[in-house]
Amino acid sequence: MSKKTINYCGIPIEYTLTRKQVKNLNVRINEKGEILVSAKSGMPMNEINSFIESKAEWIIRNLAAVERYNRAKPDSEIYIGKKCYFMGEVFVVDIKQCDVDFVKREEGVITIFSKQPNKSSDVKQQYLQWLKIESVTVFNDSVLRMHSLLANENIPMPTIGIRNMKTRWGSCNPRSKNITLNLQLMKADLECIDHVVLHELIHFKQTNHGKDFYALIDKYMPDWKERRSRLDEKYKDGI
Ligand SMILES: [Zn+2]
Repeated sequence: MSKKTINYCGIPIEYTLTRKQVKNLNVRINEKGEILVSAKSGMPMNEINSFIESKAEWIIRNLAAVERYNRAKPDSEIYIGKKCYFMGEVFVVDIKQCDVDFVKREEGVITIFSKQPNKSSDVKQQYLQWLKIESVTVFNDSVLRMHSLLANENIPMPTIGIRNMKTRWGSCNPRSKNITLNLQLMKADLECIDHVVLHELIHFKQTNHGKDFYALIDKYMPDWKERRSRLDEKYKDGI
């Protein structure tokens, strides 16, 4: 692996070259905006560079797209003044030094009292732990509510697991009669939480996302699509 640079109409394009057993030359851009080129060993540098030059417009366009995407992504740090969601509402984070670790939620402000207010990884962990404790009642209530909505479907009362997950809002294990809910759901309003809980409960009857599955969701929650898109788009704060 080595770093190379070409100049394209005055714009330096830096890329990482890897030599391996590939048929053609490949160029790709990763999520960090790095340009990665692979070429077979022995291919002369001028051939590689003229290939990059021929791809330069594409590279520049894609680099801009990656940058736009990364800029729109909420940052994962926690700090004073950060905006966080809690059950559909926006709160501003405050962090204060204290002999005891605890978190207090008041009108518009979530204050994290911490023994080590400058250690942001500790503060973040503390915040997530608090969120998890808060989520127990909220998730339990939602399961009770959605379970009784489905009273005619003979669905067993599940146990609830709570995990901070990156890629899914919930999951269902019919065999162990358990549903797992993403802690991140606590950012969303109750309607969105209910939607995920209903979705997972219906998996006890329909394990796949087939048309019978969606017929049941439509029956009990006709506006589930709006809830779902709100959930996917609105409540991301990076924490
Ligand atoms: Zn599902």
